[in-house]
Amino acid sequence: MTINEESTLSNFIQQAINNDNESGRFDRRIHTRFPPEPNGYLHIGHAKSICLNFGLARDFGGLCNLRFDDTNPTKESVEYVESQKEDVRWLGFDWHDRELYASDYFDELYEFAKQLVLDGKAYVDSLSQDEIREYRGTLTQPGRESPYRERSVEENIDLLERMKDGEFPDGAHVLRAKIDMASPNINMRDPVMYRILNTEHHRTGAKWRIYPMYDFAHGQSDSIERITHSICTMEYEDHRPLYDWFLEELGMYQPRQIEFARLNLSHTVLSKRRLLRLVEGGYVNGWDDPRMPTIAGFRRRGYTPEAIRDFCDRIGVAKNAAIIDIALLEHSLRDHLNKTAPRAMAVIRPLKVVITNYPEGETDWLDAVNNPEDETAGTRKVPFSRELYIERDDFMEDPPRRFYRLAPGREVRLRYGYFIKCEEVVKDNDGEVIELRCTYDPETRGGSAPDGRRVRATLHWVSSEHAIDAEVRLYDHLFMRWNPDEEADDGADWLSFLNPESLVVVEAAKLEPSLADASPGSRYQFERQGYFCVDTRDSMSGKPIFNRTTTLRDTWARVQRSQSNR
Ligand code: ATP
Ligand code: MG
Repeated sequence: MTINEESTLSNFIQQAINNDNESGRFDRRIHTRFPPEPNGYLHIGHAKSICLNFGLARDFGGLCNLRFDDTNPTKESVEYVESQKEDVRWLGFDWHDRELYASDYFDELYEFAKQLVLDGKAYVDSLSQDEIREYRGTLTQPGRESPYRERSVEENIDLLERMKDGEFPDGAHVLRAKIDMASPNINMRDPVMYRILNTEHHRTGAKWRIYPMYDFAHGQSDSIERITHSICTMEYEDHRPLYDWFLEELGMYQPRQIEFARLNLSHTVLSKRRLLRLVEGGYVNGWDDPRMPTIAGFRRRGYTPEAIRDFCDRIGVAKNAAIIDIALLEHSLRDHLNKTAPRAMAVIRPLKVVITNYPEGETDWLDAVNNPEDETAGTRKVPFSRELYIERDDFMEDPPRRFYRLAPGREVRLRYGYFIKCEEVVKDNDGEVIELRCTYDPETRGGSAPDGRRVRATLHWVSSEHAIDAEVRLYDHLFMRWNPDEEADDGADWLSFLNPESLVVVEAAKLEPSLADASPGSRYQFERQGYFCVDTRDSMSGKPIFNRTTTLRDTWARVQRSQSNR
């Protein structure tokens, strides 16, 4: 099996796999896995790993497993498992019948542990957690051996079995590998293999009182599944010698581990611990809050799987860590939505306009193009009548020089409609503009004047009689800082960088009537405003709530231009 013709070997992982194929190292088999721990919702960083692992399997004609690394029952749950499955599927990948769990291997892992004890390669330690840390030493100082390190095989087996049988409280003992307390690699200084946790597991129930550490489960799980290429993030590079040690001592099949740099995204945090804090602290409304960098959050916000996959392709894989501008993700999103999202007109902050020379009670149904990027999308009818709404921002009583939109005495075009001219401004007692009285030119139906006169602006609008009221949620970046993980000079921390305007709710936007039946999850471009998506959680039938997915301003294109001009 070689890579598809149309793909290019664009990254070092593909090259490594190709080399293995050529040398016949794994009999030309390609088998990867995506191994999430079900201790939270998946985020955009996981999407990178999902696209990489499933993408390699697809491109090389191999397989990719979905394996839950569920070795820590205190933090894991079925809810997380289910959400993670949904997210991988939504991204467009399929693990077929290979939904696997590290917990499926608990029996085997226990047997492996016993084998290492019998071989004199593992021992039960009774130091406390703090003592173990203290004995471990530092990067510059070797560790010290535990006083329990020379326990006999018989004693170790006896203690291990009693640990398993639930005789001891949490923390009383651990099982450790007997490697080298002076190793320059701290991961090799007698790492813990098993700890006592008197906690039920979401899959194995009350069966186990001891649970394997991730480091003791991960490599063997890969080996059991006969994974060929075990792809993981850079922080596991220093764990690789340990995984190799376990597999060699146990005489097991060895996959090839390849590390790549994890994704960091600007204006957000990606550590699950921090995301959990945002959820539990009520800083956002749940894991799928549209401001969250979780896949569930992006989905609810209106992102498409195509956009996320395109983003993952563009960022590629490398070994050096970098922060990727979130504007690139938004660029991928706009690219896809521009081609696929039907257009509609929506006035978010309405200002009433009365067309004084248009007859009362009449309606003119105008033709509007659904998507100029997609001829097959066709047209629809939008109603024009005597009373309309335009965007408050599209009118200025006293416009500065470069404001070309509506102003007293000025003429503009209404999209798909007529030219209108502002004749009179009506204000309330506080001097606030509450209505514009305009005239329209019946000769300009369709947007141009027979006498060839021009206008400098085209505004979106809706007919007030036909409009539907809708709540619109305007979302912005969750954090104001480029890198919220980085402490400020004055010691302020990541939570203080939350953007207080990351959500602005507009209660009574006015939408064109065709949007009344918009189904949850459907996406639109509101002309001149941005992309919006019907909220899947809070919308009610006939009463859609729209989430702003993104504005139309492509800041990434701007960044690119300014860089190429340099
Ligand atoms: P976090 O640090 O966010 O809690 P994690 O690495 O503990 O993440 P896991 O559930 O163990 O989360 O991750 C599953 C897989 O996704 C692992 O292979 C991991 O390397 C990968 N992964 C996690 N975060 C990122 C990221 N930011 N970029 C790329 N891959 C990631
Ligand atoms: Mg992890």
